[in-house]
Amino acid sequence: MSNLSIPLGIDSLKIISQTVDISGNIIIDVESTKTETACHKCGQLTNKRHGHGEVLTIQHLPILDQPVFLRIRVVRYQCPHCDDHPLSSERYDWVERRSKTTKGFDRYINRQLIHSTVEDVAKKEKVSYEIVESALQRSVKKDVNWTQYTELTTLGIDEIALRKGHNEYVVIVSSKNKKGDLSVIAVLPNRLKETVKTFLESIPERLRKTVNSVCTDMCDSFVQSACEIFGERVVVVDRYHVSKLYREPLDQLRISEMKRLKSMLPQEEYAKLDNMMWIVRKKHECLSDVEKDQLALLYKHSPKLKEMHRAALKLTHIFNMHQNRKTALTKLNRWIATIQKSGLSEFDGFIKTLTKYKTTILNYFKERKNSGFVEGLNNKIKVLKRRCYGVFKTDTLFQRLFLDLQGYQAFA
Ligand SMILES: [Zn+2]
Repeated sequence: MSNLSIPLGIDSLKIISQTVDISGNIIIDVESTKTETACHKCGQLTNKRHGHGEVLTIQHLPILDQPVFLRIRVVRYQCPHCDDHPLSSERYDWVERRSKTTKGFDRYINRQLIHSTVEDVAKKEKVSYEIVESALQRSVKKDVNWTQYTELTTLGIDEIALRKGHNEYVVIVSSKNKKGDLSVIAVLPNRLKETVKTFLESIPERLRKTVNSVCTDMCDSFVQSACEIFGERVVVVDRYHVSKLYREPLDQLRISEMKRLKSMLPQEEYAKLDNMMWIVRKKHECLSDVEKDQLALLYKHSPKLKEMHRAALKLTHIFNMHQNRKTALTKLNRWIATIQKSGLSEFDGFIKTLTKYKTTILNYFKERKNSGFVEGLNNKIKVLKRRCYGVFKTDTLFQRLFLDLQGYQAFA
């Protein structure tokens, strides 16, 4: 080590000596170049030294794949301002109090965590699970640094199920500014109204004024809190979520009808209905001639599916057309009336939701704000969810998710 000089990257530290211990760890003895510290009682600076306190050993960035530890004897200072002249240990800006790792090492660990699990990183970096976990905890700020935003423009509120069937959700709050830059502002630990509303209230007034739409799905707590904070006028229920809702009963009917046809039709006739899921989901104008023939055949065998598919396409068409809010309202009402008259009870649940959220759904037609960015996020989230989150405790889980999403922001 003697003829190799590597900067620590910490200005306020001076290297005294370097040694390698029997495990191959590099131990660098350092001392602080600072000559004063703040009194822990009155907060005023003091430069009156008063011996040393404990010796701290703090892990820093590895050198040539060897773990590095900084060893420092903490200088004690005495306060001349307070009557009882209390002693204070010097404070450092490169390590948080009681942390076993430097801030630089924490940042390094968090970079390793992008697309890796806590366990992976602990193994790769030869540190304990707790070291990685606490680096993560320290790095993910509980509060949003609002100073980094000058405007928000479009807010997105979206939920992610952490584990299927566990009713564990986190809420992603994102924004897309005027330039189109996407950023994940926060990951909230649950979708309770109180949580969401408290967060929205924490947005500084200066930034709240810059929000001209809030895109959300049809979750009561999201819609209600957004309406209460920003006003019903700007809250837009995402059309992507609306379409998901009316495609659901269609998908269900398709599945049961295909089952029925499989048992009913001769094998070669049923084989002609291959790939029906995609054909039913695709935009009609995107179908090839062969696919159109296949669809016609399905229609012939299942008039009910035809009726429902047509109704869903009509609805998509309403959302695709450039029209004002009032025209769209008339068309939606007409659509509802037609369905109710035809007795397609499969859409009952959807119509109930549509009626409940009509105002905010119709806001879409004002500026045609669709949160395509939330959809983009959804794809990213799907990828993240495919990775094994099982090894995490839930509280670190959403923090990690936050980091991953920030990674998304950086690499998108
Ligand atoms: Zn003092």
